[in-house]
Amino acid sequence: MKGDRMKQEFKLLIDGVLVTGASDMPVLNPSTGLVFAQAPRANVGQLNESVAAAKKAFPAWAARSISERRNMLLMLADQVEVNVELLACLLTCEQGKPLAQARMESMACVQIIQGMSDNELSPKVLRDDGGSLITEVRTPLGVVAAITPWNFPLALLMNKLAPALLAGNTVVVKPAPTTPLTTLFVGELCSRVFPAGVVNVITDANDLGSLLVEHPDVTKVAFTGSTATGRKVMQTAASAIKRITLELGGNDAALVLSDADVKSVAQKVFDGAMLNAGQICVAIKRVYVPNELHDAFCDELSVLVKNMIVGDGHDFGTQLGPVQNRTQYEKLKDLLEECARDGRVISGAVHPSENGYFIPPSIVCDLDDSSRIVREEQFGPILPVLRYADLDEVIRRINDSEFGLAATVWGTDLVHATKVAERIDAGTVWVNKHLDLSPGIPFRGAKQSGFGAELGRAGFEEYTQAKVINVLLD
Ligand code: ADP
Repeated sequence: MKGDRMKQEFKLLIDGVLVTGASDMPVLNPSTGLVFAQAPRANVGQLNESVAAAKKAFPAWAARSISERRNMLLMLADQVEVNVELLACLLTCEQGKPLAQARMESMACVQIIQGMSDNELSPKVLRDDGGSLITEVRTPLGVVAAITPWNFPLALLMNKLAPALLAGNTVVVKPAPTTPLTTLFVGELCSRVFPAGVVNVITDANDLGSLLVEHPDVTKVAFTGSTATGRKVMQTAASAIKRITLELGGNDAALVLSDADVKSVAQKVFDGAMLNAGQICVAIKRVYVPNELHDAFCDELSVLVKNMIVGDGHDFGTQLGPVQNRTQYEKLKDLLEECARDGRVISGAVHPSENGYFIPPSIVCDLDDSSRIVREEQFGPILPVLRYADLDEVIRRINDSEFGLAATVWGTDLVHATKVAERIDAGTVWVNKHLDLSPGIPFRGAKQSGFGAELGRAGFEEYTQAKVINVLLD
């Protein structure tokens, strides 16, 4: 598939039918900057048809037993598994990530469906004391809008689709404009499994998201994206007090403690910063190292940066692909220039491709906390390394951020490291590991990094309305 213009035709899914868009839009391969496929582009009429189809399908879908819905979800997991190679290839083409990472993301969809399928809707007894029987039951909400970003188009879709459908909701999916194809492909797989209208997929050129959020028949919005857009989603949803789940930006700190093993921790921190070219909400985005370890840590990172293989995600051995789109590329180029002005930049190879969106993997030393790359979310393969002298002071510096998604703490004394982890303001703090996300464990952002949870029991309940039934027994 690499380099070729894609022969496959992509369609929207509306009311169980694969349909062409009102118009087409080009999809670029970020490794070349060239158009490799055309995607359909829905208009407002098609958005309205999708929501109407989801609304019509809702009563019958909600009336099915949860085990029927679970079985269909597991059939979708089978469809994804059978098509993993195609999905992964398509993902590398439109998103840019190395093929091995694209395979992992595609397979993660299967695991997310299987893991989330374990949830049940059984009533919970809150009181049964002879006088009253009080239970809490959970019902589906209705039509869910699932709005996804371009960094993990498949996994972040599945985090929403699986619990929403299992709970009995119907869904309208809208991916990011620069990565529509894998989502459209998942739509096609859904059309083989679910009744008409249960899953609908529309695509846009960044013009339908807010209309979907404000549509009166959309009951819940599940959104992953930037904090700035999340704020708009919250504002729009406020008019009808819609249920929302927001998974937003992060500026995750890695805190290296003075008893850490420099070599092995440097490798893990580096991996946590560079995976998916740093375009992960929970990527390590700043690392704090004690004065006495600082130079050795920078030396280790410099070697890793220099050895990193940068290239087209389809090329064998590529460890770092391009960033996903031109806007992100331009932003990172500016940021890197600013870093070179304010600090000391050590960069690895730049891919020779003329038009691809390649940013060299870089570490930046000798910056202070006021630098933009320390304050803001870079979302790219550039990692600032900051010194510290005192633990209380560094925890204050880490917590001095509007973000609070995740963090990591690295040290040999686990009791001490865990105590430090408890002092960091974030939804998840990993100790001596990173990116351990799984369908059984809820994931949520503190502060302006999010609202509500994805995954785990809590992530499932986000797609339900809790209702208390309170019966007088006599
Ligand atoms: P980025 O700024 O990196 O493009 P966004 O957070 O804006 O990321 O995009 C995430 C998703 O939100 C995409 O699917 C995008 O089309 C969609 N989107 C953009 N603007 C809005 C909006 N006002 N309301 C809802 N969704 C939106």
